[in-house]
Amino acid sequence: MKIAITGASGFIGKKLCDFFLRDNHTPVALSRSIIASPEGLISTLEGTDIVINLAGASISKRWTTKYKQEIMDSRVLTTRRLVTALNQMAAPPSLCISVSAVGIYPDSGVHGESSPMRGTGFLTHVCESWEQEARMLKPGIRLVITRFGVVLGKEGGAAPLMLAPFRFFVGSIIGNGRQGLPWIHIDDLVNAMQWLIDHKQVTGVVNFVSPQLTNNEQFSKTAAKVMHRPCWFRIPAFVFKIMLGEGHTMVTSGQQVVSDVLFHSGFKFRYPKLEDAIRSIIS
Ligand code: NDP
Repeated sequence: MKIAITGASGFIGKKLCDFFLRDNHTPVALSRSIIASPEGLISTLEGTDIVINLAGASISKRWTTKYKQEIMDSRVLTTRRLVTALNQMAAPPSLCISVSAVGIYPDSGVHGESSPMRGTGFLTHVCESWEQEARMLKPGIRLVITRFGVVLGKEGGAAPLMLAPFRFFVGSIIGNGRQGLPWIHIDDLVNAMQWLIDHKQVTGVVNFVSPQLTNNEQFSKTAAKVMHRPCWFRIPAFVFKIMLGEGHTMVTSGQQVVSDVLFHSGFKFRYPKLEDAIRSIIS
């Protein structure tokens, strides 16, 4: 199969490309320059079977007003251009998987795919706008919106940053530690993508999170245990407010999210337990 991917050069995109290549599929990277050209985008999409929309500027930089616009535009405009191209095609790919994030949900409660509850901050607003663009896809193309938790892997994403302080004996709990930290191991994310491709009846939202509900304190204590390090410190939330500005919410707040779709389908997680996921990353 030919699988077109926006954001193919990123942490998750590279992992997906490697996986599809190993499985004898042909990944096609939709670079920024291809996305920017309406004709180029349509001609690159011709003959593809699936499109996966991952593109988005990193949220880990300081959220200045200008950078917040980039976080938003890199997702919303890319998705709009992609959906416009797909809607114009006579023979479009049969499946479009468009990414979003668990930041769409509020910090209180436990949320499955059918939860109508929404958060209030900037990231919720980004996710809602991102998903809204994807939903403009014409009927006839199967649309799946994957809401990722924090993706844990060796080669990128948040895990190397989250685990580094533990290596240097300064791992800590952030704030009161009760903020949710939904996560998924990158190997499970890649397998779940293949699962979505295979299960043609699945449409709509699918939360990509492991079955183990986790909060920040549990994450820190598990990391400390696996890495044989102490977890003595608790860093007050205001320190992150000073350091990160509005972006402090990335670490001082978080959601509790489950994936009713993956759990009830019998999807087998290779890393259902955080301890094993962290062990695989530090090994
Ligand atoms: P990376 O930061 O590693 O990669 C981002 C990708 O998006 C790169 O290929 C980059 O291309 C591309 N990109 C950035 N800005 C633009 C733009 N303006 N136009 C087109 N492409 C752009 O991210 P990840 O691989 O970790 O994440 C992929 C997606 O998954 C992101 O949208 C992210 O928000 C979402 N997600 C990730 C989570 C995680 O834990 N990693 C959790 C929840 C959601 P280039 O090389 O040209 O810069």
